[in-house]
Amino acid sequence: MIVQPLASGSKGNAVWVEHQGTRLLFDAGLPGPELIARARAAEREPKRLNAIFLSHLHLDHARGLRRAAKVSGAPVFLHRAHSERGLYRGVGDVRSFTPGEPREIGSLSVEAFAVSHDAIPTVGFVVRTPEARFGFATDLGCSDEGVIEQLSGCDALYLEFNHDEQMLWHGPYPGPLKERIAGMQGHLSNAQAERLLERVAGERLRFVFLAHLSETNNTPELALAAARRALQRAGREQHVELRIALQHTPTPPHELGALRTNDLERAS
Ligand SMILES: [Zn+2]
Ligand SMILES: [Zn+2]
Repeated sequence: MIVQPLASGSKGNAVWVEHQGTRLLFDAGLPGPELIARARAAEREPKRLNAIFLSHLHLDHARGLRRAAKVSGAPVFLHRAHSERGLYRGVGDVRSFTPGEPREIGSLSVEAFAVSHDAIPTVGFVVRTPEARFGFATDLGCSDEGVIEQLSGCDALYLEFNHDEQMLWHGPYPGPLKERIAGMQGHLSNAQAERLLERVAGERLRFVFLAHLSETNNTPELALAAARRALQRAGREQHVELRIALQHTPTPPHELGALRTNDLERAS
């Protein structure tokens, strides 16, 4: 399974997942033409998508949905609460998912799980093949045992590291927005993501995309330092590669299950 973030952050989010000819897009939050161009810049052809899944309806996750659905002709999977309200009727083939009930698309199985965020409902996803498991969790104000259970046992994660708490509180945002971001239905701080990563960094975990970093209230260095502390405490720092998911350009892909150089060295 190959995972490639096309965009990550408050200006737009989209993650491409591909396995044995099945191609999925998780979120479509760049403006439509930009999303299509971004995918093609990464040599991912939108016309070959098999399905588009939306985590929630905030614009930074849904802005380009109509265009992506039109160009690809792929079905759009919305949380049942949204599809039943007739949202996005007319964008094409709208289908639904229900948290806890996996949907099979080609060679991939996609299961949504509920997270705490102020676009209700918002979900994370676990994508499975017989060999590998990928966890997608962004836009959550806090984690709970349900989130920990879903993300544990994954081979790779796309995990929100939104803000540094000091930078947020001392930064330029107005007070109510600071409170929203820091709240239980806002976004995960580096410190919260650090605690979550420590809990879910199991023996299978090999790779983490640090996602949805705030350009105002975070830096890649602070997010990476938090993730490294989590892996050290979990005793996994030698085994897990970290990569910042980028906002303005495709992030280099990660292939789950591919042996890394030091694994090969250890095996030889
Ligand atoms: Zn977002
Ligand atoms: Zn959101």
